[in-house]
Formats: sequence, structure tokens, C-alpha cells
Amino acid sequence: LFHAESVQSTESVPESKAMSHVFHRSAKQTPPVATRGEGGYIFDKAGKPYLDGSGGAAVSCLGHSDPDVIAAIKAQADAIPFAHTGFFTSEPAERLADRLIAHAPEGLDKVYFVSGGSEAVEAALKMARQYFVEIGEESRGRFIARRQSYHGNTLGALGTGGNAWRRAQFQPLMVETSHIAPCYAYRGQEDGEDLVAYGQRVADELEAELLRVGPETVIGFIAEPVVGATMGAVPAVPGYFKRIREICDRYGILMILDEVMCGMGRTGTLFACEQDGVSPDIVTIAKGLGAGYQPIGATLCTARIFDAFQNGSGFFQHGHTYIGHPMATAAADVVVTKLTDGGMAARAADMGEKLGAALFEAFGQHPHIGDIRGRGMFRGLEIVADRETKAPFDPALGINKKVKAAAFEAGLICYPMGGTIDGVQGDHVLLAPPFILTDDQLGELVDKLGQAFGAVL
Ligand code: PLP
Repeated sequence: LFHAESVQSTESVPESKAMSHVFHRSAKQTPPVATRGEGGYIFDKAGKPYLDGSGGAAVSCLGHSDPDVIAAIKAQADAIPFAHTGFFTSEPAERLADRLIAHAPEGLDKVYFVSGGSEAVEAALKMARQYFVEIGEESRGRFIARRQSYHGNTLGALGTGGNAWRRAQFQPLMVETSHIAPCYAYRGQEDGEDLVAYGQRVADELEAELLRVGPETVIGFIAEPVVGATMGAVPAVPGYFKRIREICDRYGILMILDEVMCGMGRTGTLFACEQDGVSPDIVTIAKGLGAGYQPIGATLCTARIFDAFQNGSGFFQHGHTYIGHPMATAAADVVVTKLTDGGMAARAADMGEKLGAALFEAFGQHPHIGDIRGRGMFRGLEIVADRETKAPFDPALGINKKVKAAAFEAGLICYPMGGTIDGVQGDHVLLAPPFILTDDQLGELVDKLGQAFGAVL
């Protein structure tokens, strides 16, 4: 195991333990041991409760002790825990695929299961490339994505992701991708420009880039409908994705939406892109799909793409041992049922409104909070040194890490990120609490975030 970088340990970790055989995410710190979950809380070994204000990394949409999901996993373990997809399908995988397609944006028809977000993106990129091979357009070999995006840490996903600093040392291994501006009105909108005009202007960068590199060389455009980890819950402005859809269609490239973080009810609808009024050719989901109970992701595609495989080679040249894992799909089937029929995505919309309002109330006038944004239970606060000029803090101050540590100390899990990202952005805090959050817990979240800001800003 290789744990998150900047979480301060609240336990004293003996030197020998810090140097144990676990390859923690930080090579310098060992985080506290999580031993129990209850609703929106995680408890460490010492019994300290942490309110999960970010669902880990926008994962735990149903909290940490959902009895129905746990029962489904146990029942599937008793029936058949694993059967390799080279030989078998499983009842839960078939059920889950039907359920996802029944609720998916128009045109999506097939579900390719994987074990997480990066795998879902990797499958999307390869599926898109092989689609063009199947239809005889082999000249297409590159992608267009956006700066300040994150699509995962495997090589394809990292290459399309727009965080230069994450890619830097792996550059020789990257897939060919060019990056256009994100839709980030807080920093990109010009004086006197209305939001819609801003959205069209930045969407048109896709067309300009297509013309620059030659549209016949491009496989597709990939973007997060609401940007998560790298920007802090930034939705596109109205009309942006419709324009992107038009441009993709005009030049015959695939529109791939990465809903690994913002999908599965997080923004108040099962798929985030529903709110932008567009249907992608391919969409990736993970995180909330398994809600943390099982590692699972999926890549959904249209019938047109699947048909090209069916009428062509008949085989997607891709795969992992654990795709469509019966216990993971059994868990996710209950999760998706709860999000849809159980009304949990609608609850994310309602509670999300309350959360947004509470954040505005508490921090709308804060001298170091420049922007509060997001949809549903996916909210971001951008921290600035100066509200007027929007100047960020010096990255060397590590403001976001300090906020994360202070919140953790106060018993709140939140997801700050930032520093300099491609030379533009400062620090932000991402909130993505479980949809089951109560009004009292919502108050606790805002109070504890306030304590953390008080200690750092
Ligand atoms: N895509 C997006 C938009 C993400 O936010 C993430 C993870 O944060 C990923 C892909 C990668 O997912 P995973 O960490 O499950 O591999």
C-alpha cells in the first residue's frame, strides 16, 4: 500500500512501522489506521471519528456501512465469487449493465466493466482507437484533451490528462495528446464577456486544434463534465458541451466524457452530462459506482461503436483478469439501484443545494475564498491570497496541504489540491460527502472546514 501524500498522522508511528513493508503513497508518513465505518464517519484505531467530507476522493456516496450493499457482496461470495470472463458472464454483471443502460444518456448501449477509474479511461482510449481501426480509419492516432484535467494514473490516462507536472517525468511514455483550455469561467472569462460567449470561445479551441493537427489524425476529445481533482468541482458553462458535441460530429471524432469522479449521482443526476444536455460516444464511470464497497469501473459506449467491433474483428483487444467481477458488479448493482430507484441521486441534488448555500453563507465573504462552485454533492472552494486580483498563494506555502491537515486534525476529511497547476491555479478544497449526510452533519462539515480555514488562512 502506498498512502495519500499529505495526511498528517495522528498516531505516533514508530520508526520501524514507518519503514514497514507497506509501500505507502507517501514515502515519508504513515497515516492512521482506519478500523471502522459508520454512515458518514470513519473511525481510526484510537476511536477518533472523521466526518468523510470528501467521500475519500468522491467515492463513498452511500457512506461506510450500507447494509444492503454489504449483504449483496456476502450473498455473491456464497454463490460464486469469481468466474473468469474468458469463459463466463455472471448474473450481477448482466443485471448491472442493463440497469446502467436503462438510465444512461441516449445512445449508450454497451458496458465494458473494469476495476477502477484509470482502467475505465484506458479502456475508453483503446476502444476509441480500435473503433477507427475496425472501420478502416487507421490514420487516427491522437487525442485532444484539456489543460488542468485528470484522467487517471495509468499511462494512457496520464498522457491524456492535462496536468503537466504529473506527466513530466513520464513524458517519453505518453500517448500523443494536445491540450486546449478548460472551461473555467472564474479565471478564463474576459471582462464584458457573457458566460455563454465565454463557453463558445473556449469550446472553439477544439476546432482550432483539430484544424491545426488535421482532423483525420484525431481519435477523440476527452473531458470531465465537472472537473474534479485538478480544479475543485468546476462545471462547464451553459452551452459549452453542446458546442463540443457539434464540433466532434462535424469532424468525425469521438466525444469521450470522463465521469469517474462526477458521475453516479454525485452532481444530482446519475450522469453529470445529463445536465449539459449532451450524450457522449463513450463515458467512463468508477468511484461512486462501487461506492467504496468494491473496486469497479465501467466504460459505456454507443451501439455504433460496438457494432464496428461486432462486424469487424469481433474482439476488443483489451482486458484484465478481474473485469466484470461478480462480487464487484453485485455491489454496484445495489449501489445503482439505490441511486436511481432509491432516490439517492435526487437526494444528492437536494442536499447539494443545502451544502452550496451553507458554504456561501459561511465563506462567501471570506477574504481568502475566491470562488465557491459545483453541483450537487460535488463542491469546490478556491483559495486565493487576494479576492480582488484572484492572485493565488505562493505554492511554496503549501496552503492546500495545511488546510487538509488542519481539517483532518479537527476530524474532517476533505480533499484539498493545488499549488501551481500548469502555472495558473492556486489552491482549492474539494468536497464530495456521502449523499446520506444529515442536516446536522452538513453543519458539522461546514464548522470544521471553518476551523481549518481559521487555523491556516
Ligand atoms: N478520471 C477522473 C476524472 C478521476 O477523478 C480519477 C481519479 O481521481 C480517475 C479518472 C482515475 O481513477 P482511479 O483513481 O480509480 O484509477
